[in-house]
Amino acid sequence: MDSKIRTEFKNRFGADGIRYASSGRINLIGEHTDYNGGFVFPGAIDKYIEAEIKPNGLGVVRVYSVDIDEYVEFGLKEEDAPSQQWARYIFGVCREIQKRGGKVEGFDAVFAGNVPLGAGLSSSAALESCFAFALNDLFNDNKIEKFELARIGQSTEHNYCGVNCGIMDQFASIFGKKGHLMRLDCRSSEFEYFPFDPVGYKLVLIDSVVKHELVDSPYNKRRESCERVAAKLGIETLRDASMEMLESIKDQISAEDYNRAKFVIGEKQRVLDVCDALNSGDYETVGKRMYETHHGLSADYEVSCEELDFLNDIAKECGVTGSRIMGGGFGGCTINLVKDELYDGFIATAREKFAARYGHEPRVYDVVISDGAHRIG
Ligand code: ADP
Ligand code: MG
Repeated sequence: MDSKIRTEFKNRFGADGIRYASSGRINLIGEHTDYNGGFVFPGAIDKYIEAEIKPNGLGVVRVYSVDIDEYVEFGLKEEDAPSQQWARYIFGVCREIQKRGGKVEGFDAVFAGNVPLGAGLSSSAALESCFAFALNDLFNDNKIEKFELARIGQSTEHNYCGVNCGIMDQFASIFGKKGHLMRLDCRSSEFEYFPFDPVGYKLVLIDSVVKHELVDSPYNKRRESCERVAAKLGIETLRDASMEMLESIKDQISAEDYNRAKFVIGEKQRVLDVCDALNSGDYETVGKRMYETHHGLSADYEVSCEELDFLNDIAKECGVTGSRIMGGGFGGCTINLVKDELYDGFIATAREKFAARYGHEPRVYDVVISDGAHRIG
């Protein structure tokens, strides 16, 4: 990928630029916690977007996407927005930097990536973060704070791509650090690194390649349940709720709202437990909490689906240490922590059984926790 980008850049623009990269991400635990003021626990992975960039002094951006094999030019004013979706991510980053008083001038770029698209690993955040980091370095003497770079990516999704996302993906892509996961407090935006170096284990995603579109927005309904329970408790978000508090109002709320809140309160504690476990290198406890999260997402929060429960059951049968839905649910991937010696058997079994039942194989992505946004050279 690296040499392909360099060759393309040289051929198209007749010089060498500076190369930057930023990663996709996983979230080990902490699901549906962001809008409840809770914790998420992501890390950057060894799948990334790489771009070679050079200022061109022309006041226009000229960019070639290796993977899509498309070349686009655009200016830097609001009305210059390109129509190609992939280019809008880059245009949006330029505009969001400018809106914050930062500087962006014309540049040439060639980029490529190996983050699977739309698989829940946030290829879009990798793309935004790569360009946000690069343009900060090239035009702003790195004066824009890193957290602001993440917000620039998030605003790009909101304002130029029609995706109303939280901050986790861009945060993870920008701040990722090899051998570490990050516990992000979604209420205060404070975060802390925890060691993640599971010697003797692999982290692997099994992608069901299904996405169930549901009629009434289940995401909004989950949010409303959480808000109703918080209001009943007289608190802002479920971040401040305990199981005792929930029990004390059990007869005043619906069974459904009770179950939703029970999951969220439990999930907050599970993230904290996993952090403690990682500090002592206890990956067995990490795995147990992952299974508990899956169970909660499936039975109490009811955002699983048959395919994901099926993959989770296979993991259990194969003796996998930890397995759970990753992401909002209703399709997508499971994330699995599996001992090296069980890995081959698990993957073969998952492929075979899933294909026999659903008529297509799942996709398999090995991931290693790696550095986030950085300059290559
Ligand atoms: P994800 O969950 O992977 O972030 P999205 O739909 O949010 O899925 O983002 C995928 C979009 O990001 C693609 O449709 C494309 O516009 C852009 N993108 C991601 N990776 C690349 C790449 N390697 N080359 C060009 N565009 C990319
Ligand atoms: Mg995305």
